[in-house]
Amino acid sequence: MLDAEFFRRWMTATAASVDREAERLTALDSPIGDADHGSNLQRGFTGVVTTLEKEAPDTPGAVLTLAGRRLISTVGGASGPLYGTLLRRTGKALGDAAEVTEEQFADALREGVDAVMALGGAAPGDKTMIDALVPAVDALAESFAAAKTAAEEGAVATTPLQARKGRASYLGERSIGHQDPGATSSSLLIGALVEARD
Ligand code: ADP
Ligand code: MG
Ligand code: MG
Repeated sequence: MLDAEFFRRWMTATAASVDREAERLTALDSPIGDADHGSNLQRGFTGVVTTLEKEAPDTPGAVLTLAGRRLISTVGGASGPLYGTLLRRTGKALGDAAEVTEEQFADALREGVDAVMALGGAAPGDKTMIDALVPAVDALAESFAAAKTAAEEGAVATTPLQARKGRASYLGERSIGHQDPGATSSSLLIGALVEARD
């Protein structure tokens, strides 16, 4: 079973991973964006950790909805509302249970990913975070480790794609040949699930 403490560890591990990879995320956002993805998420997840420490929500759903709200209020830029919606909607789907099963979490995360697609209008293959998140959710029924691998492969597979959503889409064919920063940060978020369990 997964409790509030697990979800707090997930957010803390994501913040640490984003910190370690911030320069790389910003470098990926340089040729096909505005070179702020690392700093955007660093600011956002640092804020999430601070808020979770201060408010100490005590259910899985409350941890994720609070984290999502904080991302939306802290991160200007496309990724803030999108990641914020992902976490908020996933948290809402978990309800107010004190503990949830991995299957319930996988179902809730799928609702969260669907909400991101509804908000941003991106589908798989559009070279966005969706290209890491959808394969991750599909693999989550198997294990956290499988989801991590699926997200990492999904992020790498964005390289040959032409962007159809977000800032990178303004470049048209020139967006081809670069890995999407948001798909890369999504693979960090999903990878942090494995760390949160240990
Ligand atoms: P901004 O483009 O506003 O500077 P960021 O650099 O923080 O925001 O985030 C860029 C990432 O957001 C992209 O790499 C992409 O993965 C994701 N993104 C942008 N627009 C969308 C969208 N409509 N749907 C899903 N993801 C998107
Ligand atoms: Mg950017
Ligand atoms: Mg920006």
